[in-house]
Amino acid sequence: MIGWYELSDTLRATVAGIFGLFVGSFLNVAIYRLPREDVTVSNPKRSACPNCKRQIRWYENVPVVSWLALRGRCAGCRWKIPWRYPLVELLTAGLWAFAAARLAPEQWGLLGVHLLVLAGLVVATFVDFDCFEIPDEVSIGGIVLAPLVALLLPEIHADTWIARELSHGAPIGRWPALVATLAGMATGGGILWGIGWLGERLYGREAMGFGDVKLLCGAGGLLGPGGTLAALLVASLVASVVGVANIVRVLFVARSRVRRRRANRSFGRSFQTARIIGRYLPFGPYLALGIGIVLVAWNDVRAWF
Ligand SMILES: [Zn+2]
Repeated sequence: MIGWYELSDTLRATVAGIFGLFVGSFLNVAIYRLPREDVTVSNPKRSACPNCKRQIRWYENVPVVSWLALRGRCAGCRWKIPWRYPLVELLTAGLWAFAAARLAPEQWGLLGVHLLVLAGLVVATFVDFDCFEIPDEVSIGGIVLAPLVALLLPEIHADTWIARELSHGAPIGRWPALVATLAGMATGGGILWGIGWLGERLYGREAMGFGDVKLLCGAGGLLGPGGTLAALLVASLVASVVGVANIVRVLFVARSRVRRRRANRSFGRSFQTARIIGRYLPFGPYLALGIGIVLVAWNDVRAWF
């Protein structure tokens, strides 16, 4: 039997990508079920069409292929299956392939952590888009995972400054890695909590969801303090660009409605409305993006900065 080590880089990425497709299919289930009270991820065992409750057969559940074969519709009621289902599968496959391609075959432990975290970030992203919340399974999961990883796999902090200083040039030890983890958790959780606290004092409304605080706290434990700041910077930059684009979009829709109805509404008032509506964007997806980039490609990010 051919082992993981003998596979070429391309083949290893392909294997990870194919596993990613099936995991993505499972993540779709998690994204749908985690925020709902009446179901859990493992119960009921089989998925059903949300529209006609018809049980989905195994051959209707093959990632991407089934969606294409069914032309994006439920075989029972012709309900349109959102294109997000195959998208999540392809996204997970792409992320897993990319992560596998970036690590040496001996780093399979680290790869396992990367794959697990990437899967969690995909779930956090889409649940936050849907429900404006980040499931505790992901955020608290990260907070529990980070110290365990530091103890079992200290090399995850090979690029964390504080862990390197404490190891004096030797390979990163358990305790330096744990210190880096705790410092990263304090950085991630502390900064977002501080921003939230300040925002509430300044604007009198919730400025930062506690889910975001918990998510960056857990991620900070894996990224270390520097990586956490980089992830937050990436998240803020992308979120600002998307936020502005969203306000422009809402403004555009509002203005074309004004023109269609020949209503007498000033541009300034439309802009006010657009700013208020456009502001309601979840931050979790951008945090997840920043965390994922720094986790998998930290060295490239650092060179870029
Ligand atoms: Zn149906």
